[in-house]
Amino acid sequence: MEFSKTKIPTIYGELYFWCFKFDGQEVYVITNKLKLTNPVNLRLHSACFTSEIFGSLKCDCKNQLNKFLNQMKSKDSYILVYFPSHEGRGIGFFNKLKVYEVQRKLNLDTYEANKFLGFPIDKRDFSLAIPILKHFKIKDIILYTNNPYKISFIKKLKEAGFKILKRKEIISFNGSSYCLNYLLTKIKKGNHLIDERIFKEKFLNEEI
Ligand SMILES: [Zn+2]
Repeated sequence: MEFSKTKIPTIYGELYFWCFKFDGQEVYVITNKLKLTNPVNLRLHSACFTSEIFGSLKCDCKNQLNKFLNQMKSKDSYILVYFPSHEGRGIGFFNKLKVYEVQRKLNLDTYEANKFLGFPIDKRDFSLAIPILKHFKIKDIILYTNNPYKISFIKKLKEAGFKILKRKEIISFNGSSYCLNYLLTKIKKGNHLIDERIFKEKFLNEEI
């Protein structure tokens, strides 16, 4: 594992940027000023270029990312571990577009379309986060996720010696009907741990 790092002024304040390299695979890490005496707020985030770079309304990835980065303005410690190779839950940009096209043409949801094309629903591996978190000497973690697939990673984190103090929901929504369907599908079929009632109250009355 090798890394490069620098400090960059951002719209979220001055943040520390790191790039860790493992056998050619890169993982990006963004932190504010870490104080290891306090628990560290952690988000494991998978790249979603369609929304984060190109403005796709089909998912809330960009909103989740911005929401977490925005919290870095606080005095608490925050670390974002960003996996650029995780596009389309690990199937890559090429296959992600195929999934979207099948969704569009056959009116399928994300799970049905993946299944239709024979792609796994979730192919992501978060294990590179472990040597990274060890590098920062992090011990106590508050994990931001609603995703049961990532929650199962908690076991691996615990086995590696980290203490998970709690899990926090990260509810975000871009206001579009595409995203609404996507989120409701994630709650119903992907068993995402978002309270459907709270979600509907929070967003549907206000923004739809
Ligand atoms: Zn996305």
